[in-house]
Amino acid sequence: MKCAIHTDREEVGGCCNCGRFVCPECKVSIDNQIYCNACMEANLKTGAWPGHASPLAAGTVSGLGATSQLPPELRGWNWGAFLLTWIWGIGNNVWIALVALAGLIPYVGWVISIVMAIVLGVHGNEWAWQKKRWDSIEHFRKTQRTWIKWGVGMLVLQLLLAISIAVLIISLIMIAASGGANSNFDWRQLLPR
Ligand SMILES: [Zn+2]
Ligand SMILES: [Zn+2]
Repeated sequence: MKCAIHTDREEVGGCCNCGRFVCPECKVSIDNQIYCNACMEANLKTGAWPGHASPLAAGTVSGLGATSQLPPELRGWNWGAFLLTWIWGIGNNVWIALVALAGLIPYVGWVISIVMAIVLGVHGNEWAWQKKRWDSIEHFRKTQRTWIKWGVGMLVLQLLLAISIAVLIISLIMIAASGGANSNFDWRQLLPR
């Protein structure tokens, strides 16, 4: 079957409210219940959820801004947000994370970006829950775990880069020092023949 709105796309399920078939773009899934966009919007407006308990009452609807309360089981530090700051922010619709780009400016910017990283670590879960619509708590957890993996990967990469640069600088200093002792030093000697 095809999506009721996009007749050229395959459906991924039916709306539990009106039964219309939805494609991934039209699908709004909450607590593993599928709704179409129209029903989701209508239900949010009227507060009525025909045939279902209001998912809002259960406190598990994400992506509605301040209306979306972070489920208690998701409270805690967000390592992905802390490590990847603005990159994580773009991926999670948390635009305030772009403040961390201040880190491109020396000194003051570095302080701002470090503070922002800590703020993101503390509030990351809450903000991502409020700004983006997640299928379920499990979906949220799984995605955030992937962000942590990328964050750690980036950290290791940065460390390796920093070590390589340090080694390079130390080698250059040592070469310069030996060159100072030997005035005949010619940097071309370093090149492979
Ligand atoms: Zn519907
Ligand atoms: Zn569609």
